Amino acid sequence: MGFTRTLTPATEPLGTETTGPAVRRSRLISVVVPIYDEELLVPVLHQQITEVMDGLGLPWEVVYVDDGSRDRSLGLLLTRQQQDPRVVVVELSRNWGHQPAVTAGLGVARGDAIILMDGDLQDPPSVIPEMVRAWKKGAQVVYAERRSRKERNRPSWLFHLFYKIFALLSDYPIPINAGIFGLLDRQAVDAINRLTETNRYLPGLRAWVGFTSEVVYYDRASRAAGEPKQSLGRLIRYALDAIFSFSYKPLRLSLFAGLTAASFALFYGVVLLVCRLMGRGLFGIPVVNGYTSTIVSLLFLGGIQLISVGILGEYIGRVYDEVKRRPLFLVRKVHRTTPES
Ligand code: UDP
Ligand code: MG
Repeated sequence: MGFTRTLTPATEPLGTETTGPAVRRSRLISVVVPIYDEELLVPVLHQQITEVMDGLGLPWEVVYVDDGSRDRSLGLLLTRQQQDPRVVVVELSRNWGHQPAVTAGLGVARGDAIILMDGDLQDPPSVIPEMVRAWKKGAQVVYAERRSRKERNRPSWLFHLFYKIFALLSDYPIPINAGIFGLLDRQAVDAINRLTETNRYLPGLRAWVGFTSEVVYYDRASRAAGEPKQSLGRLIRYALDAIFSFSYKPLRLSLFAGLTAASFALFYGVVLLVCRLMGRGLFGIPVVNGYTSTIVSLLFLGGIQLISVGILGEYIGRVYDEVKRRPLFLVRKVHRTTPES
């Protein structure tokens, strides 16, 4: 299994571009990098990738996915693609976001092992040889875990908070200090390519598919130049995707909150009834209910109801996205020198 890439119909909703069966060549390594407005970094990024990959002594290709860049990134990438047949450029029809861009790259890359990394040099190419060594020893999924992290113009406590909440809620063990940076064996890539869900959290899907895994550690620097390309809103959406696609706990949480509030209300109701029947106060509760207790219980229950409806909404919204089965991205063109297969 996994020696030829089979395109089941299930892969098609991911994008319109079908890549054709990839031939398993002698240990080809692919590097997939999403690029969005990174003109400042493309030259140095490509240079670093080339140096590291040449040092491996294995055939390699790099797949840059241009996610609708508005600056000169695409031009710079295409120049490199024309100069070097090992460079493939996937041009998306517009800006689709980080996860769709990476998914597009996964569909086009033909390697026996695929390395995923960001294009802002936060994921240092120097870690690649270690990941390839782990793969050669038999690991099919290599996670690059952050020993430390630096972020530019981003409060890093937000990331810590997300990972804390995620670790608490996730129904499935997902390594928490790892983003997309890592290596996937062809078999794992084929498995991930068959997952058609729209709300993708790749680190979760990567853990979900299983296979033998290995961890390498690195220090995450802040981005080498430019501003972060993912807006805070998009990161929050991504965090919610992670939580809601890998956990049912929020649903249960609202159920428990509802049950607790209802039990409390029942108990309180009984006490009030007894007070009323006995004609005197109990536990300091006056016979005539005051405004405070009414308004507090009203607000409390109203709050719980709204939270529960909100949580339901998050799930239903995602169900709606999946039902529509819109493609996750659209490819304008795949630029490559070598023939498809
Ligand atoms: N990126 C992308 N599409 C987007 C946003 C970002 O392809 O809509 C790319 C970006 O060029 C970079 C990588 O994804 O190579 C990570 O983006 P960024 O550094 O902004 O994310 P962060 O490090 O803040 O998570
Ligand atoms: Mg970054």
